[in-house]
Amino acid sequence: ASRLVYKTGIAVIGAGQAGLSAAYHLKKQGLEIGRGFVVLDQSSHPGGAWQYRWPSLTLRTVNRIHDLPGLPFSDTVAGNQPEVQANLAVPHYFEVYEKTFGLTVYRPVKVKVVCERDSRFRVETDRGFFSSQGIINATGTWETPYVPVYPGAGLFEGVQLHTRDYQTADAFVGKHVVIVGGGISAIQLLDEISRVTTTTWVTRKEPIFRSGPFGEKAGRDAVAIVEARVRKGLPPGSVVSVTGLPWSPAIDAMRKRGVLDRQPMFSEITAHGVRWPDGREVMADVILWCTGFRSSLDHLMPLMLKEEHGGIVMGGRLATMVAKNPRIHLVGYGPSASTIGANRAGRAAATELMDYLGLTHAR
Ligand code: FAD
Repeated sequence: ASRLVYKTGIAVIGAGQAGLSAAYHLKKQGLEIGRGFVVLDQSSHPGGAWQYRWPSLTLRTVNRIHDLPGLPFSDTVAGNQPEVQANLAVPHYFEVYEKTFGLTVYRPVKVKVVCERDSRFRVETDRGFFSSQGIINATGTWETPYVPVYPGAGLFEGVQLHTRDYQTADAFVGKHVVIVGGGISAIQLLDEISRVTTTTWVTRKEPIFRSGPFGEKAGRDAVAIVEARVRKGLPPGSVVSVTGLPWSPAIDAMRKRGVLDRQPMFSEITAHGVRWPDGREVMADVILWCTGFRSSLDHLMPLMLKEEHGGIVMGGRLATMVAKNPRIHLVGYGPSASTIGANRAGRAAATELMDYLGLTHAR
């Protein structure tokens, strides 16, 4: 590895919705790419985590993809929009976006670890070192799938997968699949898989379906709950715990097909399936954990940002600033973990951090 250290003002880590929004505002406010800021991303191509989503996730089945600042998503989507695959359309959008605004992303560059040295940050990557005055971390959650621990997991002779591994339902034909999880992804995958094979659906809590669409007010309320949590230093919590599940015609059709028969969580995994406390057992070939993700923050470990309960005390206008260390902002974390939130957070983080570091003379 090179010993050369590249000096910059702000290192933006991650080029998904959150990182690109931050980069746009840093540039707009007068910072130059290179000396002023750099954007580092470990993927070889534009698109953030969207490039890895399963092919049946289309613009019809996503919740909603919010525009990045300055260029509407719809300007870059060709053809019959609802049927376009999100894993193609969003990467294309990000690619056009980066070119349009001259936002050079250094890729593939994986940030391995960040530590503080002489009042600067030392950003160690697989392609050399960067030294920066500030950090905007925008690494999302895709790299950190969460699977809860249940006794016997090591004994299971079938296959255990996570949402992250899902590509197509056809892979499960002829197999019995236990789907674990009560969020939107769990329901979507249950819908697809139950059309081609037998399934058992288990969730920890009774799923609560919301009638009517998830409007602006519901969105604001959900964000406020998560914001209050992270300002206290609590972990953000699961998405579905604050958004609930929207009732939709697709879900109604699932109910009519009889696949929404939710079982409580099993207590044990056996060699051939799962078992409940009353001794009932279901044989399974696959356990598909649709149990969500956690924030990908391991590379920030030496900065010791986490509190006892695993959360980080956040401050600043939109709760993007790490209270303990205002030279670090987290975007796409907690209340900004949605495309609209990431977008707004990118702007707040860019402005606040430039002010704090005294880089605003460039404006
Ligand atoms: P990402 O898009 O994950 O980008 C993070 C980037 O950081 C990646 O490019 C990655 O390569 C890079 N990175 C990670 N670690 C490192 C490292 N150590 N070094 C260098 N680079 C690194 N939100 C919505 O608003 N609408 C939806 O419809 C929607 N659907 C979703 C569907 C699924 C299945 C999931 C899992 C999430 C969905 N979300 C949705 C949430 C949504 O993905 C996010 O809010 C938003 O897209 C995340 O953007 P981001 O920039 O924070 O993260």
